Parts: sequence; C-alpha cells; structure tokens
Amino acid sequence: MAGGATPMMAQYLALREEAGDCLLFYRMGDFFELFFEDAKRAAAILDIALTTRGEHDGAPIPMCGVPVHSAESYLARLIRAGCRVAIAEQTETPAQAKERARREGRASKSLVARDIVRFVTAGTLTEDALLEPRRANVLAAVCELRGTCGVAACDISTGRMDVEECAPEALGAALARLGASEVVAPESWDDAPADAIARPARDFASESGDARLRSVHGVATLDGFGAFSRAMLAAAGGLIAYLEHVGRGALPLLLPPRPREGGAVLAMDEATRTSLEILEAAGGGRKGSLLDAIDRCVTGAGARQLAEDLSAPLTDASAIAARLGAVSWLHEDALLRDELRAALRALPDIGRALGRLVAGRGSPRDLGQLRDGLGGARALHERLADRDLPDLAATLRPALAGHGALVDHLSRALVPSPPTERTQGGFIAEGFDATLDELRRTAGNARRAIAALEARYREQTGIAALKIKHNNVLGYFVEVPQRHADTLMEADSGFTHRQTMAGAMRFNALELHDEASRITEAGAHALTAEEGHFAELVKMVVAARESIAGTAAALARLDVCAGQAERAAEGGWCRPTISDAACLEIESGRHPVVEAALAAGGERFVANDCRLDESDRLWLIGGPNMGGKSTFLRQNALIVILAQAGGFVPAKTATIGLVDRLFSRVGASDNLARGRSTFMVEMVETAAILAQASERSFVILDEVGRGTSTYDGLALAWAVAEAVHESNRCRCLFATHYHELARLAETCDALSLHHVRAREWKGELVLLHELATGPADRSYGLAVARLAGVPAPVIARAKAVLQKLEKGRAETGGLAAGLGDLPLFAAAAGAREEHCDTLRDKFDTIDVDALSPREALELLYELKREASQGA
Ligand code: ATP
Repeated sequence: MAGGATPMMAQYLALREEAGDCLLFYRMGDFFELFFEDAKRAAAILDIALTTRGEHDGAPIPMCGVPVHSAESYLARLIRAGCRVAIAEQTETPAQAKERARREGRASKSLVARDIVRFVTAGTLTEDALLEPRRANVLAAVCELRGTCGVAACDISTGRMDVEECAPEALGAALARLGASEVVAPESWDDAPADAIARPARDFASESGDARLRSVHGVATLDGFGAFSRAMLAAAGGLIAYLEHVGRGALPLLLPPRPREGGAVLAMDEATRTSLEILEAAGGGRKGSLLDAIDRCVTGAGARQLAEDLSAPLTDASAIAARLGAVSWLHEDALLRDELRAALRALPDIGRALGRLVAGRGSPRDLGQLRDGLGGARALHERLADRDLPDLAATLRPALAGHGALVDHLSRALVPSPPTERTQGGFIAEGFDATLDELRRTAGNARRAIAALEARYREQTGIAALKIKHNNVLGYFVEVPQRHADTLMEADSGFTHRQTMAGAMRFNALELHDEASRITEAGAHALTAEEGHFAELVKMVVAARESIAGTAAALARLDVCAGQAERAAEGGWCRPTISDAACLEIESGRHPVVEAALAAGGERFVANDCRLDESDRLWLIGGPNMGGKSTFLRQNALIVILAQAGGFVPAKTATIGLVDRLFSRVGASDNLARGRSTFMVEMVETAAILAQASERSFVILDEVGRGTSTYDGLALAWAVAEAVHESNRCRCLFATHYHELARLAETCDALSLHHVRAREWKGELVLLHELATGPADRSYGLAVARLAGVPAPVIARAKAVLQKLEKGRAETGGLAAGLGDLPLFAAAAGAREEHCDTLRDKFDTIDVDALSPREALELLYELKREASQGA
C-alpha cells in the first residue's frame, strides 16, 4: 500500500491502518496534522483550512492541522461530532533519531519514530476541558450469553463501574438508563445496539472477564465484590479489553465493580425517559428537563449523582427512606444546610482529579485539588461531630475523615496553587526537600550574579545601553546597540561575538557563561527532583484510590441531599410517604418544569390532586385541548420518580405505593428518523406497555389512537383501556378526546371519569387547568383552533361540518352506538378461549389416516369456517 511512498508517508500509512476507523492526529513538531479523507472530514467539522502537502500516487494530499497546545478544544469538537481520534506522537527527539540512524548505518535523513499513544473516544475521556462537570461520562460494554445480556458500564473520569444482566428485550431500557456516550459490543453479535462499536468477540469471554477483573483489582476471587453472572463477567471483560486498547495497555481508574440486582431500580424504557424529559428536554439539552428544574447541587459530582438518582430511582422502601431521612434533616436545619453547601461549593472535583492521576494524565494541580478536597472533607467531618445524624449521614461521615496523613504530606509537599503544567517545575514547596531548596538557591544566586554582572559590564565598557538577555536558542547573552559594538569586538575585551541583529549585536562572556551553566545545571537537577516527588506523590494517591473515591462519593451524596432539601424549601415541597399499597395519593401536585416556566411569565400553576388506589386505579381524563391533561399525567409520573429517587416532591402531601415500572406514552411523537410513522411508534409503545405493566406499575397514556382514523382510534383506545383495567391492573392515568370512552365506566368498576375544566365566556374559551370528577361535557376543539389563530372562515366552515356530523351521530345513536352490549375485554377473551377449546376437541377426534384426500379437504374448509366464527 505504501509502495513508492516517501518514508514519512510510509510511516503515516502504517499508523493510519492501525488507527482503524478513528481519525489520525499525526504529530509534526508543534502541530497535529491530518491527511487524506481524515483531513477533509476534520476540516469540515472544525471549519479550518484544508490545504495540500506533497503528492501521493500522483495526486496532491489533502491536509489540515491543529496546534498541539490548543489540541484539546479541537478534540472536544471532533468527539462531540461523533468522531474518535488516534493520537500518534513522536516517540523520540530529532537528535535521538539521528543517533539511531547513525547506529543503524543509514546516511539518509532520519525520520522521527512515531507511535499511537492513545485513542481519544467519547467514553474514555478524563480531561476537564473535554468533560462536562455536571454530567457523568459513561462507557458501556454489552454482549449476549445464552439468551441473557450482560452490561458493564463505567465512568473512567471517576472510576465507577457497574455490571448487570438483563433479558435481551430489556437491553434498550438499560442502555437508556445508563445514557452511555459510547457503547462497545462483540462484532459477531447480530442484535448488537445499532451504534455500538464492534470489538473482537474473544474480548467478551466470561473466563477472561473474570481474570481481567481479578488482575485489575489484585484479588484471587471476586466474591468480596458480590455475585457475578457469566454474562456480567463477559461484558466486564469486553469493557476492560476496550480500555486497554484505547489506552495502549495503560488502564484508567477502575473501582471494584458493583453488581446491580434486577428489580432494584424503577424500570423505565427509552420512550418513557424521553417523553418525561428526565435528564434532557424534548428538543435536546438540559434546559427544560426535570433534572434542570430540581438541581440545586453546588458541585459537579453532586449534579452527576443527582442525574444518576433520577435515571435509576429505587424500588427498595428502606433505601428510599434513608435518603429521605437525610434530606429531611437538612430541610429542617436551614443553617446547617447553608453552611454545608458553602463548604461543598469551595471543594474541587476530587473524583475526577483522582481519575486523571490514576490514568497517568494527572498534573500537580490535580494533586493540589486532592489536598484541598480531602482537607475540606476532614473539616466537614469535624463539623458533623456531636450531632444527631440521620442514618445515611452517619454512614457517610466516616468516609470524610480518612487521609489525614496524605493531606498533611500533600500540604507540606505542594505550593498553594500548583500549575497544570509540570514540565516547568515550581510546584514543590520550599522546605519540603533540602536538596531541592539548595539547587534552587544555587540557581537563584546565579541569577542574582547575572544581574550584578550586567551592572559591572556597563561600568567596565561605559555602555549604559548594555543588557544581559535570555532566549531559548542562545541562552544568556550580552546585547549592545550596533553603534557600541566596536568596543566589545576588540580582541581583549573579554567578549566573544555571537550574533548580529538589525541595530544590535550579541556577545558571550566567560563569567556569564559560567553563571548561566550553573543556572541550567541546577535547574535541570531541580526539575528531576520535582519529577521524582511528583511520581512519589502520585503513587501515594494511587495506593489510596479506593478510599479517596469513597470520600468523593460521600461528598457527592451529601451535596445531593442538601440540594434536594434546598429545592424543597424553595418550592414548599413535601416529604413523600412510601407505602406498600398499590396507591398514588397526591394532594395539590404540581409539575416542576411547567410551574417554573409559568412563574417566569408571572403566571400561577393550578395544583391538582391524584387519588389512585386498588378500587379506583384507572382514571379516564377528558377535556379541551390545552386544558392541562398532559401536564397532569406527567406531573404524577415525575412525582413518582422524585419520590423513589429519595427526594421531596412538589405537592402538599403525597403517599406513593412503590412502583416497579413506569410507562409514559405521551403525545404523538414522530420517529421518522428510525423509519417509523407516528402511529406505528404509538402502537409499538402501547404494545410494550400492555406486555409489561404489572399490578405494581404506573402507566400514563395520552390520547392513544390519535394517530389513526376516528373509528380505528376509538376502537383501539377502548380496547387498550379495557386491557389495562382487566389484565394489567396497574395504576393508570388515561387522557383521551373520545367522549365515547366514558361508557367504560359502566362496566369497569375500578375506572373513574375526570376532566380538566374549561368555560366559554363571552364567546372566549377560558381554560381553568383544574381537574374535576365526571366526564367532559363537550370538546372545545374549534374554540382552541380559534385561539390558535385559525382563520375565521375556516372556523365557520368547521362549525357547519361539525353540526352536520353531530346531527348524524344523534340519529344513529352516536359513534359508540351499539357498544353497550359489547362484552367486556375479559369476557370477550373468555369466550374466545371457550371457542378454542371446542376446536381443540374437534381436532382430537380426527383420525387423519382414515380420511380420503377429498374428506380431508372438506374438513379443512369446515374447520376454517368454524375458526373464523370465533374470531
Ligand atoms: P392537548 O390535548 O392539546 O395535548 P392538554 O390538555 O394535554 O392539551 P397540556 O399540554 O397539558 O394540555 O397543557 C397546555 C398548557 O396549559 C401548558 O403548556 C401550560 O402552559 C398550561 N397548563 C397546563 N396545566 C396547567 C396547570 N395545572 N396550571 C396552569 N397552567 C397549566
């Protein structure tokens, strides 16, 4: 492939091959260069100039480049655009390359060796500049083993790792919950998630997963971490193998994996998460989401924890109670809450600093952050002493106390604000290492001596404009204006000429040279000493990584509790009561996002009650468009999420019977991108609900059947409502425009009718956003259309059509005429079952061998006729 190419091109092409489907950043001096298709793609994304350099196979080579010192911001943009990048660095200096060429007996110009040192991918970032502080960055590996899916997920910026297993049909929901920015899967797997990166299947063998985990954590058995299934181990193995690949063998911070038990979290599928806008609003972005409306965390780690809590609300009453207890404690004690939040706000993100240090990408600044963060945690530990702490806080407190010796050591070792760059040194504090101090003194003395030399040279030569300067090429030198140069050019002047500039001349002098060498030598030794200390300090941190991560987690949890308490105090929210009964009793509930939006416009949100229990578990809600039905449905779903995530809720009182699965089918959302029509999407989601909702589930259904013709829609809505009532028996809020469904109340005893109120006043529609019992009296579609600005002639015409339709409907007994004697869903199902039994009996009596072909054919016709009668 590299036939006839220059040595550099040959080297480039070999690295290009190794980079696979990643863009290749090829280091050339102070730039990372991209060539060929990479260059075209990157130039378009980054909006930078596309040029050419040399030729390959007779055609100019497209090229673009980014400066090394600002590469991070370009990388961030490429990653955001969905690219992955391989970084090829120079692995030797030009001098080393020359030396190597000499040793190898090559006379030709030597090419600097280069190698891919790292792959930068969305899921494997640790740099602050590439990460969002308030958002976890999750990498997931998934695979299937004997009909079960294994999922391993980690956030390498903090080292957290979770593993779980699930049924193949639940994989989508699990990935939606994790919100992974990158997913890897075995290449041989046909059902792998569509956007997964294919990796060798051998990476996903459960035995090697087990071995990899044991080796990462230096343990003989994983028993101490919990119980792991084969599928979990296989996924974990795939994850670690991928991390080894992108880090070129070096592994980032990985904490012991936590096996997640099935059913430990509230199950929500992707459609539900999207429609409820939990972490992201419908249009993308955090603004307008539930998370944004409630997040009062003062640290990035707290915000990340809160997002995780909302993504995976709990189903265990005692775990929820523990979180609620801690929120209540800080809700009641506003003074302590303020103090705690002020203290937390000042703390650096120690979890991420630790992640960088363990990954070998840490800086002195990261060490400084650990010193300050761990020190701050210790102060909080003291602050919480002698207090009556709720259980959760009492469990967290010890994690704040550790690392006394490490904090002391870091405090002595580091300057107050260590730099991010360590190549220049200057981060080890004075007094920490006597030898280093001595080296610095020597260099300092030499610098002072050079300053003194300048004065002496001026006096000696009588040139007041003489200066001693420094640059990276010449080092220290004496500079005089051209007109004075002659004096120094004299043979016995003691100065040697080095460089002639426009208007100035540069010289060297023996004493200057000696002092300069002293500075260089002492400086080099000092740098080596600082490097040594840095490595030593990082080693200490790495050794304590698990307990430092524990401290980081405890701080994040405290921040979440304090933030939840703050939000509750701000909005007058209440502590929910968690119950075992299948109820949902919410008094004066509100929608946190809609309420905030209304408040911004000076409008008031109307609070509404929801009272579902076993005897009244399905509410059919009618009323005009824009009346607030969707808002009511969603607010109750959000209240369930908030409560089970362990926070207070926007209501006067709330009793939540634990929900195992939450489903939301709201609005007719198009998913044309995935090639499904609105109606198809609606039915796929409805099917999932009917198949999965249990007696412990909570379902909100908004206008099922809206996406098709009136008759089809009504028929489907009717059948779905019945099935939910009779088969699923879950708690359900069902919003609909079909008045005809009101008749279900006659046959379904746990179903009741409700509507959002509206009034027409002086020909204008007034929406009250207030929920009332009983069926909706009429629809207000035309009034809403007028409100929306549909032209008057169209409204007038629609009115005429409507009158005609209503007249026809009255004559035939209405759209739902004849539905009164329709057997109920369960009864219909029963009748069908009976019919099947009859057919089955008939089959049993058939002696196939005794039939002539003609008789067989006739029998077949008969059976088909009978079967169709029971359909
Ligand atoms: P459609 O049938 O057209 O989907 P809808 O009945 O579901 O309408 P929503 O979308 O819930 O109506 O609400 C429409 C608007 O009414 C909201 O955007 C909000 O501004 C306002 N609204 C809804 N509920 C309330 C409330 N409880 N208090 C005040 N305003 C509300």
